[in-house]
Amino acid sequence: MKDETKCLHSGYSPNNGGPGVMPIYQSTTFRFNSTQEIAAVFDDPTKAHIYSRFTNPTVDCVEKKIADLENGVAAMCTTSGQAASLISILNLASSGDRILSTSAIYGGTVNLFAVTLKKFGITVDFIDVDSSEDEIQSAIKPNTKAIFGETLSNPSLQVLDIEKFSKIAHKNNIPLIIDNTFPTPILCKPINFGADIVIHSTTKYMDGHALQVGGVIVDSGKFDFTKGNFPDFTQPDESYHGTIYTKDYPACPYIIKARAQLMRDFGCYPSGMSGFLLNIGLETLALRMERYCENGLKLAEFLNKHPKIKSINYPGLKTDKYYTLAQKYLPKGTSGVMSITLDGNREDTIKFMDKLKLASKEVHVADIRTCVLHPASATHRQLTDEQLVACGINPSMVRVSAGLENIDDIIQDFEQALL
Ligand SMILES: *Cc1c(COP(=O)(O)O)cnc(C)c1O
Repeated sequence: MKDETKCLHSGYSPNNGGPGVMPIYQSTTFRFNSTQEIAAVFDDPTKAHIYSRFTNPTVDCVEKKIADLENGVAAMCTTSGQAASLISILNLASSGDRILSTSAIYGGTVNLFAVTLKKFGITVDFIDVDSSEDEIQSAIKPNTKAIFGETLSNPSLQVLDIEKFSKIAHKNNIPLIIDNTFPTPILCKPINFGADIVIHSTTKYMDGHALQVGGVIVDSGKFDFTKGNFPDFTQPDESYHGTIYTKDYPACPYIIKARAQLMRDFGCYPSGMSGFLLNIGLETLALRMERYCENGLKLAEFLNKHPKIKSINYPGLKTDKYYTLAQKYLPKGTSGVMSITLDGNREDTIKFMDKLKLASKEVHVADIRTCVLHPASATHRQLTDEQLVACGINPSMVRVSAGLENIDDIIQDFEQALL
């Protein structure tokens, strides 16, 4: 099936006479006829649903749909993108280990990596997104357990050369984790370029309607944990009656371990209702992405020519530094998100923001409605000036997210605010 069809039909197919729309299983628990049957499900948690702290039939359908869209073998939803990032790392690294990440990543992830994970004894080394193969290689230490990067970085819109990073990761027998939030699988499928694990904040384009916060982790099923230094995958898990993930679940040990061990312990799992709402967003994802890209490019072209705009980052523009990489990884378009830097100081920038009428000022991006955010005073407020520069952020930078309104109305709004 092609993406448009997967968006509508993957994950759930009604039985004869069954409901045409994916039903909401809003139930904490699931009943069995005998103690023996419950024991069997504990032996193999892939057999049935046990408890909605880590598995639920509605969410399961959504997970199958997202895995299918990403060309992965399995997926697990989480209650936020942050929870997806956290679990994707903790499933590989523990105290004493390191992670290598590009610095062109979401501010919340920088905070999680640089401050919070450090308190858990996990060190994250940051490198420039444009690093050469040699630079990436020399940043990898014997205890580095994964490489992490964003396909299209939030909010600096830098494009990651996924193949380059996956080549070095695999040479060192460590997996590559890609945060594919902005492109969604409609614009880029990182697994096709060598990513081993793909994560998303589903809060953005996937949900699409700003209804709820959520995340997902997708397992490509391709990484061979027996080759690297991953004893938690290859030795019996004492907390799960001796399961050896690579041996007992060779098709997708990563996601089974994330669910059986970490989701069981952390419990940041979405409800049936959340799964249902996310699915409604996914049904129109392919269609919506086309229009976001179209509106995004038109708005970017308008802003690129405007005398009051000093610079713009939108890899869909031929003049953008990442245009060539975007043509390779995001040939269908580079989403509706761009960042602009005004010809002015912090105050001028805030004045411009406040003059916008249609575009809403909100802590959101990749929403169905056009919205703007000033990263320096909001999402990246916790970062030092040095960290801001490393993430590609200037105090006069505004993140713009073109929505699905008529493009003439969007452009008119920016035109009057820039007067
Ligand atoms: C928003 C975002 C996150 C965090 O997701 P939440 O759903 O807000 O927790 C992670 N990565 C990227 C690229 C994001 O845009």
